[in-house]
Amino acid sequence: VESGWPALTASPQFGGQGLPHALGLAVQDMANSASLSFSLVTLLSQGAVEALKAHGTPAQQLRYMPKLVSGEWTGTMNLTEPQAGSDVGALTTRAVPAGDGHYRLHGTKIFITCGEHELSENIIHLVLARLPDAPAGTSGISLFLVPKYLINHDGSLGARNDVRCLGVEKKLGLHASPTCVMAYGEGEGALGELISAPHRGMAAMFTMMNHARLQVGLQGVSIAERAFQQALAYAGERRQGRAIDAPAGETSSFIVNHADVRRMLFVMKSKIEAARALCYVTAVALDQTHFAADEKSRAAAQARADLLTPIAKAWSSDIGVEAASLGIQIHGGAGYIEETGAAQHLRDARITPIYEGTNGIQAIDLMMRKLPLRNGEVFSAFIEEMKEGLAEVSRSAHAPLAAAVGRAIDNLAMCGAMLQKRLRDSPRSALAGAGDFLNLFGVVAGGYYLLRGILPAIDHLPEGAARRRLALTRFYVESVLPQAVALAGAALAGDETLFMLSTQEMLDFPN
Ligand SMILES: Cc1cc2nc3c(=O)[nH]c(=O)nc-3n(C[C@H](O)[C@H](O)[C@H](O)COP(=O)(O)OP(=O)(O)OC[C@H]3O[C@@H](n4cnc5c(N)ncnc54)[C@H](O)[C@@H]3O)c2cc1C
Repeated sequence: VESGWPALTASPQFGGQGLPHALGLAVQDMANSASLSFSLVTLLSQGAVEALKAHGTPAQQLRYMPKLVSGEWTGTMNLTEPQAGSDVGALTTRAVPAGDGHYRLHGTKIFITCGEHELSENIIHLVLARLPDAPAGTSGISLFLVPKYLINHDGSLGARNDVRCLGVEKKLGLHASPTCVMAYGEGEGALGELISAPHRGMAAMFTMMNHARLQVGLQGVSIAERAFQQALAYAGERRQGRAIDAPAGETSSFIVNHADVRRMLFVMKSKIEAARALCYVTAVALDQTHFAADEKSRAAAQARADLLTPIAKAWSSDIGVEAASLGIQIHGGAGYIEETGAAQHLRDARITPIYEGTNGIQAIDLMMRKLPLRNGEVFSAFIEEMKEGLAEVSRSAHAPLAAAVGRAIDNLAMCGAMLQKRLRDSPRSALAGAGDFLNLFGVVAGGYYLLRGILPAIDHLPEGAARRRLALTRFYVESVLPQAVALAGAALAGDETLFMLSTQEMLDFPN
């Protein structure tokens, strides 16, 4: 905060530096690797800033944004309630007009990241709640801003609001991040302001959520990078066994010279680079929704960001878990005990496929909303762009790699077309393949972006770095991309087997 890092991408009008999100994401990547728990503190504030920028009144922006941008105050997102997790529409927190333009909120929220702490002077809670006349479901949800300390007219901090942390969860990982149960309105009601129009809370929250979903995907990349760097260092200093082609007289080898250890390191790093590219490309699209020259380009960028966000979130966060697990494996027994610190990365990574919409929910979003965008045109435009993007590599010495990626793109296109048809004829059958389709999409698009990086790497990077990049891309094409065929098969398997058992027969499995 003292060095101004949280303000990187915020608007200069409110004390920010006005830099692109793509750059902010790269900086956040490093902060996440340093400590996923700690980096969450300012990350949530950025989401609140985005929501206020898009939906706050000028007065609200002036009152809250400068201190959120600077990091003097921090933000939270309050969606989840005991009965309303993935199904946000089931939330019951109430907001009653107080008569003076404010609202009094009553309800309990659970799992609220950084709901309470003393790292900042004030905490600005963005809370989803229902007005008295609200229709049921998501169309009846409104967004409120509830400060921990009320703000006086001169901007100074006033009395403590009627919002309290009832408890901090004990959890698998993220041990430095307080996950709080929050009680709003145990007394006369927590004072809040309406953000955006009544009943438009979900739309407003989606501004935060697109940002946050991409950021959670990035968390997967960052934690995988941390696990990779640690495992690599260990592999270069731990001696065990004799490599099969070790020079005569060498009785034990560094484990980095065993084929299986190299395989694990290559899986980690090649997937990290593929997922990182996917996240950064999504951030560029989000930037273009604001900064592209004309309306048509801005709309195309929005469609691209919409399409890629669930993949960036889910595929990258799964890679975080996989890489953190492989990091432990490379350490052997030393990875499983706490002393090396390798286990912490797996514990920290494990939340990323869960929060900000589980990866199952991301897959449904991709299948039901993103694949059919503009009658499938957004998807086919992306397929065409990838095919065209192969041309340069196809003319180079690396043409066989481009050919393999081209076949995988065809596979993705075929699978996407079949699922769109299935979505119309038999939606449950399409949904049964949603998770595998999302992974197929990630594997193929990630491979495409890795490949696109080769020629610039050869032209611009020092020789060693360029060779490493080439090795990663070749490994990915040879050993990761072949999964595309299997994933397409699974994505098209349909729902017959999944639903051949009744609910009772399912629950009888232990018998
Ligand atoms: C450490 C931590 C921090 C968090 N931070 C915040 C925060 O700051 N703010 C906040 O509001 N929330 C936060 N959460 C809550 C988090 O976003 C939810 O836990 C998450 O959205 C899942 O909801 P749930 O836990 O109720 O799981 P459920 O919704 O009960 O899901 C259980 C399983 O069922 C699946 N499922 C559910 N519905 C469907 C469906 N329709 N179709 C297919 N599968 C389905 C899910 O994918 C999942 O596998 C946090 C949670 C944790 C653990």
